[in-house]
Parts: sequence; C-alpha cells; structure tokens
Amino acid sequence: MMRWAVSTVPCKCAVSKSRLPGLEYTFNPYRGCTHGCLYCYVPDIMRNPSLSSTWGRSAAVKEDILCKLKDDLRRLKPGVVGVSTVTDPYQPLEGSLQITRQAISVLSEMSFPVSIQTKSALVARDADIIRGGDVEVGITITSSGESFRARFEPGASPIADRARALNELSSMGVKTWIFYGPIIPGSNDLPADIEFIVRLAGETGSRVLYDGLNVKPMLHKRLLSVFTEGEMERITKFNFNAFYGAFESECRAGGVKCRHAFA
Ligand code: SF4
Repeated sequence: MMRWAVSTVPCKCAVSKSRLPGLEYTFNPYRGCTHGCLYCYVPDIMRNPSLSSTWGRSAAVKEDILCKLKDDLRRLKPGVVGVSTVTDPYQPLEGSLQITRQAISVLSEMSFPVSIQTKSALVARDADIIRGGDVEVGITITSSGESFRARFEPGASPIADRARALNELSSMGVKTWIFYGPIIPGSNDLPADIEFIVRLAGETGSRVLYDGLNVKPMLHKRLLSVFTEGEMERITKFNFNAFYGAFESECRAGGVKCRHAFA
C-alpha cells in the first residue's frame, strides 16, 4: 500500500472569496494533493517554492479547519462554496480523516450551497449527506481510457470508477456535472474520448464544462518528462477554438449541455 507524508499546518481562515464562475467562496480542506497530476496548475500559482516543489507527493491537514469553517460561515452571507479549487477534497487522506465529509455537513446545516469537484470515486461514499443537501457534484473525466490516467493522473481514481460514482450519484437525484479538462492535444482529444464523455454526460444528465491545457512555466518543465520540445510546441500552438466548436456540436447532437469552464 502506498504511504503519503502527512503533516499539520496552521490555518488562519477556512473560506475564501472566489473569482471563479458560479462560486462565491472556496473551501480547501487540505493543503497539498497526492493525486499528483502531471498537468496540475497549482504549483505555478503557489507562492511557496518548497510547497510547489513537493506538490503531488504530500498533503497536510489544516489545524482546527472545521471550527474555522464554522466561524467563517457565521460571518458570511450564504453563497455557493466550491469544494475544492486548489486541492482534491477526496484525495486518499480523506478516506480515513473524513474532513470533507464533515465540512459538507457543516455547510449544509448552515445553508451554504456546495459545488464539489473531484477526480476520486470516494465522493460516492458521502451520497447520504450529499443527496440531503443543496450539493452538486462535478467529477473530472479527462479521457476514455486508463493509459491517459496512468500517465497524467497517477494518484486519482480509475476513470471507470469515476464514471460509476457519477452514475451512482446521478441515479439518486444528485445534480452532477463533468469537467473535461485539461484537454491535451494528441492525448485526450481523440474521438473515443469525446464519444465516451458525451455518452456518460447523456446517461447521467450531467452538463459538461471543458477547458484546454494552459501551459505555464513550471508546467512546461514538468510536461517535458513526457513530451519532446517539438510536441510541446505543437500543443501550445493547437487551435483550441476549432476543437471546442467540434466538441460542442457533438454535445448538441447527444442532447448534452456544455460550455467552456471559464467562459
Ligand atoms: S487532483 Fe487537482 S489539485 Fe490534485 S494534483 Fe490533480 S489537478 Fe492538482
């Protein structure tokens, strides 16, 4: 069994204002994320170089996070809380610690709508509290096959397990959505990927939010472990708008609602 380094870090506030579409606030139950996605943007936006350098391999528990959450919510006007934006709320640590689970209960009790985003099938564990609250669940589905996941998302749940979790939650009446991204040209923009995602969205009544890869400096360096400079150049010059148009047509044909995640 794989073991992760776990530590505790101080936490000044639990809830932050959000500038992301559809979210008033964000709540990140952990600092760090052991899903270790090769394409993760977080190291590029962190201000802490040592944290950036260990990103993907360690996660820390925030001290008194649930008390801080309650304190913050008492001061705030209710609005949609994104869980999470710079960590995965259902990464392996959550299996035993259940901080996200308790936080969703607190948010629901205090009348804050919740929008979960994860690439872990563990989210289905919390169906009992999710279905009873104003909680929607977004599951990232990046491709149709395991080879993409093994290469780019080594610590996240297998795609089939994520699809099963989406089906399970949707069949209980939970509002669900799919995040298809980042789209990496030549890796997960193939007809089989599109067909799989549109079919799954249709079956589960999920809308799809999509986004193409945005290559930032640290990310560029990391991706050179799997792509040549020539491949990276082709990726950065890819015509995403043409791809988005074709993807939207497929969604329309499948009766699926979709939009760019940051439109
Ligand atoms: S799950 Fe999200 S936060 Fe975690 S490594 Fe992957 S992209 Fe980054």
